[in-house]
Amino acid sequence: MKDLLQFQLSPEEAVNDTAIRQMIKSKLSWTRNTDFYYKWVRRSIDARKPNIRINCSFEVVDSELEFTQLEPFEERNVVSAPPVHIVGSGPAGLFAALRCIEKGLKPIILERGKDVRTRRRDLAKLNRDMELNTESNYCFGEGGAGTYSDGKLYTRSKKRGDIKRALELFVHFGADPDILVDAHPHIGTNKLPQIIVAMREKIISCGGEVHFNAKLVDFEINKNAISRLILEDGREMECQHVILATGHSARDIFYLLNDKGLKLEAKGFALGVRIEHSQELIDQIQYHGRLNDEYLPPASYSLVTQANDHGVYSFCMCPGGIVAPCATGEGEVVTNGWSPSKRNNPYSNSGIVVSVLPEDLGDPNDPFVCLNFQKAVEQKCWEAAGKTQRVPAQRLMDFINNRVSKDLPQTSYKPGLVSVNLNEVLPSLISDSLRKGFMDFGRKMKGFLTNEAVLHAPESRTSSPVLIPRNEKFMHPELVGLYPCGEGAGYAGGIISAAIDGMKIVDEISEELGSEV
Ligand SMILES: Cc1cc2nc3c(=O)[nH]c(=O)nc-3n(C[C@H](O)[C@H](O)[C@H](O)COP(=O)(O)OP(=O)(O)OC[C@H]3O[C@@H](n4cnc5c(N)ncnc54)[C@H](O)[C@@H]3O)c2cc1C
Repeated sequence: MKDLLQFQLSPEEAVNDTAIRQMIKSKLSWTRNTDFYYKWVRRSIDARKPNIRINCSFEVVDSELEFTQLEPFEERNVVSAPPVHIVGSGPAGLFAALRCIEKGLKPIILERGKDVRTRRRDLAKLNRDMELNTESNYCFGEGGAGTYSDGKLYTRSKKRGDIKRALELFVHFGADPDILVDAHPHIGTNKLPQIIVAMREKIISCGGEVHFNAKLVDFEINKNAISRLILEDGREMECQHVILATGHSARDIFYLLNDKGLKLEAKGFALGVRIEHSQELIDQIQYHGRLNDEYLPPASYSLVTQANDHGVYSFCMCPGGIVAPCATGEGEVVTNGWSPSKRNNPYSNSGIVVSVLPEDLGDPNDPFVCLNFQKAVEQKCWEAAGKTQRVPAQRLMDFINNRVSKDLPQTSYKPGLVSVNLNEVLPSLISDSLRKGFMDFGRKMKGFLTNEAVLHAPESRTSSPVLIPRNEKFMHPELVGLYPCGEGAGYAGGIISAAIDGMKIVDEISEELGSEV
């Protein structure tokens, strides 16, 4: 027997083995004396009405051996295999490296930042002393921008097979198998680093290479093909296949490609603020007043509207989270959010951003029109808050009513806040749409509009403001062997889509090399 059953249970029943078994028996009209085994396949919360339900989907079998198994990670010894150079060890780079091993190719990862453990010390200094290390921060270093994040693993990508494979690999390297089941899976900042270390150790034990403090600063071209990589410390490496997975914050890489005369395009992105409410308020709103419920996780929300012909939406919402300083360069401030696996901080934060297109900002043919806008806002916010890693901030209702907040409550943002009128700091294109957007969100979520909520500015690294073009072989159309990849190149927006893009590119390289054994 192998059945797939779907039904709803209350939150209490959904954690109760007896209640689950009873429901399965009733659904199967179970009369046999033998026992059965069940496994969660899908779990989501339906909190649209006060009677909150859990949508459950189970696989039911006679013997545990019948359960659908995870596809294993296929280890190969790649010491002497054809090399693939991978610049950047974010999800795109790491999953590309893992796929290289499965395909019998030798990944050589070059990462400008440090290993996860050493990187953590730089984050502590940034939060505590406002000391920014431009090579080791929330965006740069082993694991990329996703390492010290909420680790939300959902994506708008529709390719179920690819998503499943990426999630399975996370589980293979130590993530809780619940991520394969939950409709909105997440891992948490406290757990991601170990998983990334396990991936790195596997890559090395199979014969791959991982180099930290290995910043790509230049490359050579020979007969229209990339032929040599040059690192900041003077090291040089011959290369044939280079996966460029440097993320949305590696502006120097965009400038390098442009200086080499390679085509780039401006890409629309989104910019706004990071709002923080108390988690209790969000639970109260989303769970219809049901507070401190041990059977429900900290509530999240997802909001979207249109204002002044621009999309305004919540981005990277972190229940039980912390607002983090995510700048990568001097003279700028940037915010984002993370949360631990239990999401047990008293705060809830989310980006609330306005989508912008190149034509909104200037000459759409200028590849840097969006990047320059992003940079200018980050610099202006830095100046407005006193030229440190403190950020300009304002209470929500004060922002809507266009008045400076007399005081600011303590928020989770460790470096601190400076009270300003964000309407005067953010471009009106952004602040006007944000104000209208917030009013609509207040109608959709009663209680969302409160002066206890605080806006932190800016939320500006939502996706890449530049697109690195690629052809049907995933190569830059003007440079043989260069494979723009992941979020920085404009082909992903989040951990899972970046991971999928990394794997997809290796499949293409492998096919080209005919190296599959
Ligand atoms: C605080 C925070 C929270 C986030 N939360 C989530 C979340 O919950 N869920 C989600 O899906 N996404 C989240 N994101 C976004 C997510 O992290 C990114 O979408 C994802 O990491 C993109 O993957 P990537 O591999 O394309 O690029 P990145 O992760 O940005 O990795 C690029 C890597 O390249 C390296 N690099 C850059 N330039 C060079 C160079 N010249 N030489 C060598 N190496 C270089 C960088 O150091 C970096 O490690 C979050 C981001 C941040 C900052």
